[in-house]
Amino acid sequence: MDPSRRNLLFGRRPQTPTAPRPPWASAFFADRCTHCGDCIRACPQQIIKTGEGGFPVVDFAKAECTFCGDCVRACTPLALDQSISPPWKIYAEINTSCLADRGVECRICGEVCDEQAIRFQLAVGKVAHPLVNAEQCTGCGACVSSCPSNSIRLLELIA
Ligand code: SF4
Ligand code: SF4
Ligand code: SF4
Repeated sequence: MDPSRRNLLFGRRPQTPTAPRPPWASAFFADRCTHCGDCIRACPQQIIKTGEGGFPVVDFAKAECTFCGDCVRACTPLALDQSISPPWKIYAEINTSCLADRGVECRICGEVCDEQAIRFQLAVGKVAHPLVNAEQCTGCGACVSSCPSNSIRLLELIA
C-alpha cells in the first residue's frame, strides 16, 4: 500500500524529515540527554553525530544502523532506553530523483534491504520502480547510503 494512503488510514502522518534521534530515544530524551557524547563514541558504525542544540542525531549518509544496542547501553542518563519497542518509528521514502524515474535500471536499494521491504513494481515499457513497504521497513538506513542518486530519506511517523 502506498505509505501516504496507509498513514491516512491509520491516522498517522509523516513528520517533516529531520535527522532522527538515536534508536530507543526516550519520551524524556530532551530532558535526560546531557550532551555527553557517549552514544556518539559508542557507535561502531559511526553514524551518530552532534546535531542541533548539541543533541545526538543519526546520519545515514555513510552507513546503516545495525541495532547493535551499543549506544543505548552507553547512555547512563537513560535518554536512550532499551525497554522501548520498536527502537524508532521511521521508514524509508524514495523520491523522484530515483534512477528508475529517469528510465535507468537500478535495484541496489532492494538488494541491500535485509528486511525485503523494497519491492519493484513492473510497468510495461518502463523500468521497474522501487516501492517501500513501511510496515516491513525497520528504518535501518542501509538503502540510504547505498542509493547512487541519493534518492532515499527516512521519515518519522508521528501519531
Ligand atoms: S544501535 Fe548500534 S549501529 Fe545503531 S546507532 Fe546505536 S550504536 Fe550505532
Ligand atoms: S537505489 Fe536509489 S536509484 Fe536505485 S532504485 Fe533504489 S532509490 Fe532508485
Ligand atoms: S531503511 Fe532498511 S529496512 Fe527500510 S527499506 Fe531501507 S534497507 Fe530496507
